[in-house]
Amino acid sequence: MSKKPNPKNHSALKVQQGIEQPSSLNPALSDGLVQFKKDKPSPEAFLKGILSGDRSLLGRAITLIESGLPEEKEAARQLINQCLPYSGKSIRIGITGVPGAGKSTFIESFGLQMIAKGKKVAVLAIDPSSSRTKGSILGDKTRMEELSTHESAFIRPSASSGTLGGVARATRETIILCEAAGFDFIIIETVGVGQSETAVAQIVDFFLLLMLAGGGDELQGIKRGIMEMADLIVINKADGDNIQKAKLARMEYENALHLFPALPNEWIPKVTTASAIYKTGLESVWEIIETFVEMMQQNGWFVKNRQQQSLSILRDSITQSLNSGFFDNKTIQQLIKASEQQILEENISPYEASQKLLETYFQEIKK
Ligand code: GDP
Repeated sequence: MSKKPNPKNHSALKVQQGIEQPSSLNPALSDGLVQFKKDKPSPEAFLKGILSGDRSLLGRAITLIESGLPEEKEAARQLINQCLPYSGKSIRIGITGVPGAGKSTFIESFGLQMIAKGKKVAVLAIDPSSSRTKGSILGDKTRMEELSTHESAFIRPSASSGTLGGVARATRETIILCEAAGFDFIIIETVGVGQSETAVAQIVDFFLLLMLAGGGDELQGIKRGIMEMADLIVINKADGDNIQKAKLARMEYENALHLFPALPNEWIPKVTTASAIYKTGLESVWEIIETFVEMMQQNGWFVKNRQQQSLSILRDSITQSLNSGFFDNKTIQQLIKASEQQILEENISPYEASQKLLETYFQEIKK
């Protein structure tokens, strides 16, 4: 692949391909997903690469985690465990907003600002629909061109398949890898149209909602539940003729937020205006996030929130592992068929059959 920038290639997919192929010390490893199965790096190479901040290996490790293949699970699990002691040090920020609100423009400008402050920024996306829907988070428009090629940034689109639960899990694990790779800020982007936000709120420390000025319509475009999750609402596109409208919208949202119940962490959600294109108002956003983090660290909620998140991850993960361990088990797969037949013939009750299957499963895994 030519290294010369070609303006025609600046579609989202081209840019992201570019991220997965930064120069690597080992040319055999730089071929990305295509050669994934042929010459998979050893677990040691993965860990070393991640800890040294090699974005190419980080990308491939994330692919390993997302693959969901039973034969990859153990390797993925080990890698995550090995990265865990190096994780936890980033600030995790969720950013949501309806399509067109300016999320990618904002993340590009804000990410570059963070980088200018000497920070490393990873951008992940949660969008279970992205595999099939054009115009969604991975749409064909140009996205974060400058940020995506910056060596202090890492941009990863959503896992391309699976349920929201699966994508959220892969994202949680991806955060661990990104933190081990030394990223100071991890931005999780999601389209603010529904379900994904609750999953994001389970993962992040700070939740930022990007909105547009212009009266009632926009207020309705975003669900109340999403507004309630926001620690900060940024009215974007506060430039040109829009500045006054943005100021008005800011007041409207401030009034709306006052009606929401107080948060247990004592944070009063903020509203501010910004222009992602003209890069104004971004410093306020930065200061609000800094203030939030400081306050949460002082009142203990930063840790408490993560602990609560970890406990719910524990439960989710047990449920998921038990479920897939059981149903992926070859013996069980055969026995279930036999049991189903017996149930249909009314030779055994479904309760008794499930009990027997579970007993067999637990004996099986003891072997
Ligand atoms: P997303 O769908 O939320 O990721 O939104 P985009 O970042 O793709 O932005 C949608 C459109 O709004 C694009 O045409 C951007 O150029 C434009 N846009 C984004 N931010 C601003 C801004 O701050 N001011 C103005 N005037 N336009 C913006």
